[in-house]
Amino acid sequence: MTPVTVFAGQKVALFGLGGSGLATANALKAGGAEVIAWDDNADSVARAREAGIGTQDLREADWSGFAALVLSPGVPLTHPEPHWTVRLAREAGIEIIGDIELFCRERRARAPEAPFVAITGTNGKSTTTALIAHVLAQAGRDVQMGGNIGTAILSLEPPDASRVHVIEMSSFQIDLTPGLDPTIGVLMNITPDHLDRHGTMEQYAAIKERLIAGAGLAVVGIDDGPSRAIAERRAGGLVRVHVPTGDALCTDALTVRDGIVRDPDGTALADVNGIGSLRGAHNWQNAAVAVAVARALGLTGEAIQAGLSSFPGLPHRMEEVGRRGAVLFVNDSKATNADSTEKALTAFRDIHWILGGKAKEGGIFPLVPYFQRVAHAYLIGAASDAFAATLEGVVPYTRCETLEVAVPKAAENAAASGAPEPVVLLSPACASYDQFRNFEIRGDRFRELVRALP
Ligand code: ADP
Repeated sequence: MTPVTVFAGQKVALFGLGGSGLATANALKAGGAEVIAWDDNADSVARAREAGIGTQDLREADWSGFAALVLSPGVPLTHPEPHWTVRLAREAGIEIIGDIELFCRERRARAPEAPFVAITGTNGKSTTTALIAHVLAQAGRDVQMGGNIGTAILSLEPPDASRVHVIEMSSFQIDLTPGLDPTIGVLMNITPDHLDRHGTMEQYAAIKERLIAGAGLAVVGIDDGPSRAIAERRAGGLVRVHVPTGDALCTDALTVRDGIVRDPDGTALADVNGIGSLRGAHNWQNAAVAVAVARALGLTGEAIQAGLSSFPGLPHRMEEVGRRGAVLFVNDSKATNADSTEKALTAFRDIHWILGGKAKEGGIFPLVPYFQRVAHAYLIGAASDAFAATLEGVVPYTRCETLEVAVPKAAENAAASGAPEPVVLLSPACASYDQFRNFEIRGDRFRELVRALP
């Protein structure tokens, strides 16, 4: 745990006790603050009380006594409308911050030289965060990974000069971190997302820009317009990362072509080819970002290549879950929309594609250009009728209703196909909640079914 001492002897209001909230309350308490916590969920409040955290309905609290409101990132700060705690805090004139702001203040006060890498972007945050942490750990560094991935930041070991914090940040977390000052700030990409919570694309991009504004070194992917504009405006240390689809837009960038990461002067820095966990051009961006960060932290080329090559990947993102003879089984359950599934369809051939669930707007129409890579489709869940209509006459398909039917059927057909490396791919292009609680449970079930095959 990282005790937060910067509010020692002061009273702090905290709202949101799911996820990171309880860890934050404990860290504040351990550092000597008095915490008054609340949540709309009575069970969460009861759990906090059992853990010895002070609780009170903040509607009835005396706000003039609080030094700050610490808000969970899931609670609306601005859109669709500010949460009631936000209004009460503003009326009382007290600041509203999140757990990563507490970490930043603690780091500045106790260990300002402690290396701190913060990562954001619309897509690829978790993969890149895990990849950077893996590369550093393989090179023998003491690494603490968390934030929006896995462990809450204040549950990690405290910042220290000999320890690197690698922290994934959502836009909501950035919004609650006014003093964000990472050693290295990474901005991967910006495409429209969460606009219900941020208002406009401009506001969303402005929040993302704040992650690199206070960074010692900025690493910015320049493959989309908003990110490129942010790199243009950057005055301090900057590494641009570029994965050109045609001619390179920029000669002053770490560039990836054919899986080779190169310096602006053309020197090859790393080779991503043949690394199963980093298949597909989208992963080239993730790998190049990891190369830039690892170099900035002083790793050798050999150490970086060894770290990339041994990256196990994250579950549910084009995760290789096994082989049966020539057939490869891939769990891409995290692909809940056509955009994500497109990445998987471009990474493989002779695909036995399991798809379906609760369809998103547009369905699988955007994937029609990749249908020639699909040998057969296996439909599950609520979207079956709609998807069958799109596949009709182009891709042979079987209505399976459930994963339990689809997996053995796809395995059998793939094995009989005679293709050199057929792939059974779960990449649903749909939300899971018609049949599963979340994409993790759907992916876990797929993995179990593959293991149970004869
Ligand atoms: P996030 O944490 O930002 O949601 P993940 O690393 O979990 O991102 O990846 C989620 C999905 O996003 C992947 O399954 C893949 O389809 C896609 N993706 C991953 N990296 C990138 C990238 N650099 N650019 C675009 N899409 C990506």
